[in-house]
Formats: sequence, C-alpha cells, structure tokens
Amino acid sequence: MQRIYFDNSATTCLDPKVLEAMRPYFDQWYGNASSLHALGRESYNALDEARRKTAKAIGAQAREIIFTSGGTESDNLAIQGAAFANSSKGNHIITSTIEHHAVLNTCRFLEGQGFKVTYLAVDPHGKVDPESLKKAMTKSTILVSIMTANNEIGTIQDVRELGGIAHDAGALFHTDAVQSIGKVPLDVTRENIDLLAMSAHKFHGPKGVGALFVRKGTNLRPVVYGGGQERGLRSSTENVPGIVGLGKAIELSMAEMTESVEKMTSIRDRIIQGTLSSVDDCNLNGPLEGRLCNNANFRFDYIEGEALVLSLDLKGIAASTGSACSSRDSETSHVLKAIGVRNEHARGTLRVSLSRMNAMDEADEFLGVIPEVIARLRAISPMSMLKKPSSPGG
Ligand code: PLP
Repeated sequence: MQRIYFDNSATTCLDPKVLEAMRPYFDQWYGNASSLHALGRESYNALDEARRKTAKAIGAQAREIIFTSGGTESDNLAIQGAAFANSSKGNHIITSTIEHHAVLNTCRFLEGQGFKVTYLAVDPHGKVDPESLKKAMTKSTILVSIMTANNEIGTIQDVRELGGIAHDAGALFHTDAVQSIGKVPLDVTRENIDLLAMSAHKFHGPKGVGALFVRKGTNLRPVVYGGGQERGLRSSTENVPGIVGLGKAIELSMAEMTESVEKMTSIRDRIIQGTLSSVDDCNLNGPLEGRLCNNANFRFDYIEGEALVLSLDLKGIAASTGSACSSRDSETSHVLKAIGVRNEHARGTLRVSLSRMNAMDEADEFLGVIPEVIARLRAISPMSMLKKPSSPGG
C-alpha cells in the first residue's frame, strides 16, 4: 500500500540529502568538537558551518545560535534562562493560553519558583490581541513568550507587533518558532525577537536536535551545567551529526521556501475546500487567512477523532487528532478549549499537516476517502443520536 503522510507537524521524514550530509560524522569524523587534533577540528568546523547556516536562515549572527536537544529544551532555556537571569528586574512573565506544553509547563514550573505568569486569552481564531498584551505589561514584566505559529490549528501571530510591545516596555521577547521554520519568513531583527526556539525534526532534519537564537547581550542563565560548551549556555558534548543535519535541513528549507510554501498552500486549500464541501457537520478549526501553509484542522461532529485517525490509517493515510503530544491522551486539547470549541465538538478533531514532500494527488486521494470514512463512523456512533433530524424537504 502506498502510504500518505499527513502528520508533518508531529515530525517529518529525514531528507535523504540531510542523511548524506550527516553520515560522515557518524563513522569518519567522530571527533569531539573540543579536541585539538584533526578529528576534533573537523567536528568543530562542521559545527561552525551549521551555526552559520542556522543563523543565516533567521537573519542572526552565528555566535547567537546555541544548539540544544530540540524544541522543548530550547523553550526551557529561553524561558527559565531569561526568568532566572533577570529576576532582579522583575518577576512577571506573559505568555498565551495556546502555547505548546514546552512553554506552558515551563511557565507553571516558574510559578512554583515565585514568578507571576499572565496567560493571555486568544480570539476564536487563536490570535493574541496586541492590545491585550499592552494592557498586561507591568513594570515587573521581564519576558513575553508568544509562539510564531500554533502546532494544532496553524494560527500565525503578529510577532513583530507583539515583540515591539514587549521591547517598548523593556521586556525580552521569546518566540517558539518550532512549526514555522521553512514556512514563515523570519528575520529576528525585523520581528523584534530576542529568543527563538526551533527543532530540526519539524523541517526534514533529525530528531533530538534543536537550536535557540539568543540575541547578543541578552541575559540568560543556563539550565544545564557542565563543561561549558555552547558559550556556557548548554554544556554537554555537541551532537555533531545531528547539528550537521540541522544545518543542512535548514539550508534546504530556506532554498526551497518560496516554491514549497506555494505548493503546500495549494494542497492545503484543496483539502480544506474539498472536505468542507463534501462532509456535513464539519468545521475548520483556526483561521482561513493567516494560517500555516501546511495546516488544516477539522472538527467532525458525532465521531471520535481517534476512530477517524485509525480508520484513515487502515486506508494508508497518516494524520493526527490534534497535537502529537496530546494525541495519546484523551484530554480535550487546551488549544481548542482556548478558542471556545465545546467539549463534545472537540472530540472529532483531525489535523492534516503537510510538508514540501507532499503532492496534490495525495489531497485528491484523501478527499476520495474522507466522506465515506466519516459516514461509516457516524453510522455506528452513539453520538449520532444527538444529531437533530433534518426538517422535511431540508
Ligand atoms: N513547540 C512546538 C510549537 C511544537 O510543535 C513542538 C513539538 O511538537 C515543540 C515545541 C517541542 O519540540 P521537540 O519535539 O523538538 O522537543
């Protein structure tokens, strides 16, 4: 069976060119980047090159890039690091209710350490209102952390404006850009960003490696202590093959960004329009405009998202119920709750997430099976009893 992979917000496949670039650093150039001999120097140079490529992709300088183990660690280093390093200036942090748990749970941890956190509500499309950020800023606000784009419903925030508001009040601005690399053009200076988190496996790089942009002069305390690698901000022997993979993956994503955004947008739009027009009692979660080019998130009444994902899997289509990390627990998604979706409607959610590797005929195959799968699930669903009988003639 030819499989269709529509779960790219959970993770992406490794680009074969990335694997090729990484391979010599497993078996040939295995030196520790801190060693003085030739093997060590080769590793050091490879890190240097990956750092330059990563910096270039976001308009930063190479020395402003700190390599980490992924998006979660980058978010932790940004938020904990900025909070503890700046606690003499204030103890207030602002974030939003729809952040990834890497941000939300870090903020909750900091609340236990005496910090005060404001969780900004979002509108029904998942947007943070800049006015509400302005109102929430206080003299003791040291950090604002708002994601560039949401991993479940794809809403893109106006980070430039939000970052400007944080800066006007003397606070640092962090953005979780894990879902945005290669999809949303980002320049850290234009966008008023001091800290930016990314993760290689979301853009056809390897799992377990990420980066944090730390603007020069930003006060940050490490989370991991040890040998002082990564300018003392992230001790531990560098994952050289992984970092080389991140560098290659971001270089490829940037080189192909214009065409791949165009391609993903047209596949996404075909999927959204085709699904909404062929299935009754179906709604789109998140906005039509200002949404990630690779994200479609639907709500199908009277069915369970898990049953839908498993039925699609049997047809060779991999998608997910919501975010990757919440799809194995049955809690209603905090993002859907935040945009006002009622519990009974949040149950039948399906996230379709694309990458530049997808093709338009895969959208057509999906559209060919979705009405029939939904109809079959509704026919056996006790929730269908809730459906109001349609009026005669209607
Ligand atoms: N932030 C966002 C928005 C994400 O979507 C994810 C992963 O799904 C993360 C952070 C965590 O990234 P990682 O899996 O690399 O730790």
